Amino acid sequence: MRQRRTVSRMLCQVCGADTLKHDPERQLFVLKDVGRPIEEGELTTAAPVCPPCALIAVEHCPHLRGHVAAWVERPLPWGVAGILYDRDTLSPVPGDDLTKVAYGDPARHWLVATRQVLSLNGCTAVFKDTGYLLPTGAVDPRRPLPREAVTT
Ligand SMILES: [Zn+2]
Repeated sequence: MRQRRTVSRMLCQVCGADTLKHDPERQLFVLKDVGRPIEEGELTTAAPVCPPCALIAVEHCPHLRGHVAAWVERPLPWGVAGILYDRDTLSPVPGDDLTKVAYGDPARHWLVATRQVLSLNGCTAVFKDTGYLLPTGAVDPRRPLPREAVTT
C-alpha cells in the first residue's frame, strides 16, 4: 500500500513529502546499480526521493550501496508487478523477482499485483561525482575549490 501510494502521488519514499512541491518539473529517482545509467523508458517500482532523503537512502539502505540516479521529467504509470500464475496449472510461474506486466496486457488477469510500475521518461542521468546528492548550496568536498577560494 505504501509503495502504490508513494508512486501514484510522487511522494518521497523516505519521508513521504510531495516531491512535486520540491520541483514540479522533475523528480529524482535513485535505483540499485545495474551497471549502466538509468535509461529512457526504464521500468521501476521505486518511488522518487527528495534530494535530502537521497543522501540518507544511499547511506543507510543496503539495496542502494551501489546505485544510479536520474532526474526524471515524466514518470508515467506503466503497469503492475507481482506474482504471475500459469493459466493452465494455476501455479506461480518460477522466477527470482516480481513479474512486470503492462496495463492492457492480457497476462494481467493472471497476476497478483503488489506494486505499481512506472516508466521513467525524460531522464537526465546524474553521477555521484557531480555532487547531485548534496543539499543545495553545499560544497562538495570531493571537488577542488575554485582558484580564487584557495588562500596561501
Ligand atoms: Zn524525503
